[in-house]
Amino acid sequence: MKYSVVAKKDAKSHAVEEKIKERLQSSGWIYDKAEPQLVICVGGDGTLLYGVHQYLHRISEVNFLGIHTGTLGFFTDYTEEELEECLHDVLEKEPVIFESGLLKIKLDNNPNPYYALNEMRVENIVKSQIMDIYVDGEFFETCRGSGICLSTQAGSTAYNRSLGGAVIDCGLSLMQLAEITAIQHSKHRSLGNPYIMMENRHVTMKSETFDTAILCYDHLNVPLEATKEIYCEMSNRKVRFARYRHYSYLRRLKNLY
Ligand code: NAD
Repeated sequence: MKYSVVAKKDAKSHAVEEKIKERLQSSGWIYDKAEPQLVICVGGDGTLLYGVHQYLHRISEVNFLGIHTGTLGFFTDYTEEELEECLHDVLEKEPVIFESGLLKIKLDNNPNPYYALNEMRVENIVKSQIMDIYVDGEFFETCRGSGICLSTQAGSTAYNRSLGGAVIDCGLSLMQLAEITAIQHSKHRSLGNPYIMMENRHVTMKSETFDTAILCYDHLNVPLEATKEIYCEMSNRKVRFARYRHYSYLRRLKNLY
């Protein structure tokens, strides 16, 4: 079996990484950074997001497993204290694969799409951002404020939750649109509530200018200078999580608060 390790840049995570390599190597596994079958992410949810983006080009051939060096996270199934159990499971058990869809984001001035496991956000902290939102090509509303967040089911517990968005049960595939500090007054109103929509819809954001806005996708970001239109849909790419033991969604959720 070929594997690689993506570790957070701290001493604790590095020590866990070394133990994993030692143990898997002595069991005949091959460390292959370029073409791994299993990517073990050591750190937190952020490390897993980083790992996913590192292997986007081979996403359908890679399984991910997260080990937390703090407390249990959403994408991490074991803590560092459970490392022995984790390595035993990895070496002895067949994992159940849980798939999570990636959001695809396309800008009108860039041929290369971006992908997000959690969410995409258009954020403007410099000026109030005005943008028209279209769902399946039909005008939905004009948003004014600091921006919008379009999250996946997996991202519903991340930034979306801080915006008052709903937590979405695992197994449901959909998109959730939430405004970021929306301006509401007598001359302008928008829905104000998060809008949960079917996964096969597409959302377009149009503006005369996104010049001081930033596109944030997972832990990454790009400036939106010269962009006029942003198109989002659920892609057919999926992140494959290798689950070696049962760790329920409710338990993951209860760890959050
Ligand atoms: P980060 O890696 O420091 O993560 C910020 C926090 O979000 C961490 O506590 C992490 O465990 C948690 N998180 C990430 N994905 C999650 C998920 N799917 N469910 C529950 N918790 C999750 O921050 P970053 O590198 O700037 O961005 C990574 C992600 O962190 C973003 O995709 C965003 O969703 C989230 N984030 C959330 C907030 C917020 O809630 N206000 C702010 C910044 C980033």
